[in-house]
Amino acid sequence: MDFSRIQSVIDIPVLQSKTVTIFGAGGSAGLIQDLTRSGIRSWKLVDPDRVGVENMSRQDHDPGDVGRFKVDAVRDKILGLNPGADVRTIRQDCTSMTDAEARDEFPNTDLFIAATDNHQCQAFVNRLSLIHTVSAVFIGLYPQALGGEVVWTDPARLDCCYRCLCPSRYQAHELAKVTGQSLDPTSMGADICGIRILDAIAVQIVIGLLTQGSENRMGRLIPQLDDRQFIQVTLSPDFQINGRDIVRERLGVAPGNPGYFSCNSVALADPDQGQLPCEDCRNFRQHQFFQVDGKWRRFTSPESRSTHPINSESQD
Ligand SMILES: [Zn+2]
Repeated sequence: MDFSRIQSVIDIPVLQSKTVTIFGAGGSAGLIQDLTRSGIRSWKLVDPDRVGVENMSRQDHDPGDVGRFKVDAVRDKILGLNPGADVRTIRQDCTSMTDAEARDEFPNTDLFIAATDNHQCQAFVNRLSLIHTVSAVFIGLYPQALGGEVVWTDPARLDCCYRCLCPSRYQAHELAKVTGQSLDPTSMGADICGIRILDAIAVQIVIGLLTQGSENRMGRLIPQLDDRQFIQVTLSPDFQINGRDIVRERLGVAPGNPGYFSCNSVALADPDQGQLPCEDCRNFRQHQFFQVDGKWRRFTSPESRSTHPINSESQD
């Protein structure tokens, strides 16, 4: 591929050396192609579903793909763009894998993407990110595509994993599961416009995470965000959560401001202000935390690690 038009803003050699594993090859079919055009050439695609006729209205699949596994259809699109790409496909639901299996199945991934609104899959990707100590990006569309979010983790640098960021969400899903319900939003009313806007943000975050520190616009993106790892986006003027436009409120825009419409975003550090570390962090990166006076702290240097040994008796 010829990257001459984008090599001033993206560190192409670095991006070409990375492997991305993505869960979901439906609504993310366009995102995968955008990242391929940007330089990613090593992929692992995971999705148990086949392309259906109903997917044509909101996913980057073609009528000729109907009946095929989505991962196979997307693999062909990647190879059509870059015949030198390395694409591996998994046509099954991996979310019931044990942690040991997850460790063995995805050994050389540099970044995971959860491109599905399925909470069980998002929770699995969070554990994968912690097990392998690599970043993960979570793309979520809210019901009716009135809004959405792009969340990411970087276990080597940031305190919060996905579960630390969204503890009330985990609790709600666990409660619903007990009563046999699902809180996962359906795709009804979720149009391709919302998917495209969220994907555009997610593509930048993925490139930013993988080329962090490079002397160009994408390389500066993550340092510019620092510890703000939760981007919330309005996709319609009708956007509300529990009766409130929390994006407008968080931006400090007064109600009725004529300049405020839609496609606004807010970047947050820890919206739920959860207590660290969460259960996943305790299980998979216990060595990164210690307690002082009943409060959890994170080891920030080898010195603090040696002076504050883990008190494993007080973790619950
Ligand atoms: Zn956590």
